Amino acid sequence: MIKINEIYYSIQGESSKAGLPCVFVRLTYCNLRCSYCDTEYAFYEGAEKSIDEILEEVKKYKCNLVEVTGGEPLVQEESNELMKRLCDEGYEVMLETGGSLPTQDVDKRVKIILDLKCPSSKMMKKNLYSNIEYLKSTDEVKFVIGTREDYEWSKEQVARYELIDKCEVLFSVVFGELEPLQLVNWIIEDNLQVRFQLQMHKFIWEPETKSV
Ligand code: SF4
Repeated sequence: MIKINEIYYSIQGESSKAGLPCVFVRLTYCNLRCSYCDTEYAFYEGAEKSIDEILEEVKKYKCNLVEVTGGEPLVQEESNELMKRLCDEGYEVMLETGGSLPTQDVDKRVKIILDLKCPSSKMMKKNLYSNIEYLKSTDEVKFVIGTREDYEWSKEQVARYELIDKCEVLFSVVFGELEPLQLVNWIIEDNLQVRFQLQMHKFIWEPETKSV
């Protein structure tokens, strides 16, 4: 059984899939406590469901793109089996992970969106850098940047781990903390070949809106 916080259908707000309709399967629990977390409601709330029940619910939306998110989905071991089953059913599956737990057992068909937590998140020491070894060219690494220090740190990691040669690299702002224009200017000044992104859903709906 897997504790599920919510399953809903919306528009993918981030990553190279931004703008596409997507079914979100949000798992309960997170082992991190990022300073800017906007899904604290997923830390404990939820209901136990079997993988079959989850698949039934996902099927209702008739959408091929599914994101497994949290909280931190990898806290629950069965999340790997859930992603495998979704892939077996023919879904295009994405995993959004905070980057502190091992990803090597995630089904290779899954597109992993791996966070590397920046200094202002207060969770940087939890980054599991060995996950970088397992990145596929179809995966994406995400930096959520709230300060100039975060930006400089992110730039260093991109260079140190040669991330641009490995996969897509996403730079986004901590919503309400750093002006998007400021981050864009830094990226352009440094001629950094990363993908700037906004959390689209925070502009389409009120920023606090849940299940979008
Ligand atoms: S990893 Fe995600 S869900 Fe967990 S505390 Fe950080 S932002 Fe919140």
